[in-house]
Amino acid sequence: MGVGENGRPRVVVLGGGFAGLGAARKLKGAPVDVVVIDRHNYHTFQPLLYQVATDLLEESSVGHPLRDLFHGQDNARVHNVAVTGIDLDRREVQLDGMEPLAYDFLVLGLGAEVNFFGAEGAPEHAFPMYTLADAVRLKEHILELWEAADRDPSLVEDGALNVVVVGGGPTGVESVGALAELYRSNFSKDYPNLPQEKARLTLVEAGPTLFAMFKPDIRSYTDRVLEKYGVDVMTGEIVESVAPTRVTLKSGQVLKAHTLVWGAGLQANPAAAQLGVELERGNRIRVDPDLRVPDRPEVFAVGDIAWITDGKTEEVLPQLGSVALQAGEWAGENVTRLVDGKETKPFEYEDKGTMATIGRGSAVVQFRRGRTMKGKAAFLAWGAVHLALLSTGEDRAKAVVDWTWAGLTRERSARIIVKTDTH
Ligand SMILES: Cc1cc2nc3c(=O)[nH]c(=O)nc-3n(C[C@H](O)[C@H](O)[C@H](O)COP(=O)(O)OP(=O)(O)OC[C@H]3O[C@@H](n4cnc5c(N)ncnc54)[C@H](O)[C@@H]3O)c2cc1C
Repeated sequence: MGVGENGRPRVVVLGGGFAGLGAARKLKGAPVDVVVIDRHNYHTFQPLLYQVATDLLEESSVGHPLRDLFHGQDNARVHNVAVTGIDLDRREVQLDGMEPLAYDFLVLGLGAEVNFFGAEGAPEHAFPMYTLADAVRLKEHILELWEAADRDPSLVEDGALNVVVVGGGPTGVESVGALAELYRSNFSKDYPNLPQEKARLTLVEAGPTLFAMFKPDIRSYTDRVLEKYGVDVMTGEIVESVAPTRVTLKSGQVLKAHTLVWGAGLQANPAAAQLGVELERGNRIRVDPDLRVPDRPEVFAVGDIAWITDGKTEEVLPQLGSVALQAGEWAGENVTRLVDGKETKPFEYEDKGTMATIGRGSAVVQFRRGRTMKGKAAFLAWGAVHLALLSTGEDRAKAVVDWTWAGLTRERSARIIVKTDTH
């Protein structure tokens, strides 16, 4: 006898990201009640956050109302509420301002959050890039700095227009590439009186190279693209502390910059550490091959919060949208199998390649067997793979139109600052 309506099993899905959505939607038509919980009332398409931060896309292109995604699913309900605790022994989830919710099955898809690795001042002054709110905050901060420098050009000498981006992995490289496009194309026309050459973009990476996970040909292509964009790359440097207008490196060097974008690391959602289960690097929850938490046969963990090993290759899978979506769907299928009295199946990931965009028309792809792609073809491959991740046909159509329009016109119509505390 389940705790759902009419004694049906209740599946509580925590998180409406790729992982949670994949699981919840896979349960459409299954003889269960599905309850999706998210602290936001929208699903965020994180791969396009840079485009929001750099004014290319509006928020609504990247956030989709969660309720909308379940209109056609009679067995699903959505609650816009924050999870405050999870009691695995009582099989109950505690929520902020709502009665606790009992479950028969739990799918943990709460994602990850930024890891500042103890850099002093970073939590207060750095700009992470993980949520839609992060992207909007960065966008408005940069626009405000350029407007301030327009009013008082002496700010330029103090580094007001400089941005330091930390992290030579996909988040850092993609962020600095997107910022470079904004700076070198639109801002040079918007602010003709400001000395563009003094607006420096610097990418800081602790290791010896950018894109350490990629092959050497991709790395040298990336270096060339960033050089063309005028990005200063500093490898072998660690950010020690961050102040509102200065970034101090471990080597002692101080960079003048009023903006520091943090793209250097992730850790699992803090809920993971409160469960009392085995955790791996980055506090990710170790799961069995069928995506269940060891010794908790009714609990699945999927997406960025989980440490998932591919059933075929035995490799630990990266924190990617496609891994999250596929694992979420697989967990949904395994729940259905259990409800039907069948055995679960070990997860197998269908790898479409590791990829990153460095700017419009510049991207890199590395396939599992080692083949690589660079430039426009890779950009199109990135588009195809990521369009498939968008949750509805309507989202896909909108994304294609927005990108094509932005590509043809180079227009960034989202270049506005909306202050909600004034008229
Ligand atoms: C800037 C950026 C660019 C990226 N680019 C790519 C890319 O090009 N390709 C790619 O494949 N992957 C990319 N990724 C990675 C990809 O987006 C993630 O791997 C994926 O989103 C993980 O999905 P998830 O469902 O596990 O977590 P998330 O998508 O983070 O979803 C977690 C959900 O849980 C909710 N939540 C969290 N805590 C609580 C709480 N306490 N209570 C209630 N709800 C809560 C959040 O609101 C969120 O909706 C990128 C990530 C970032 C940040």
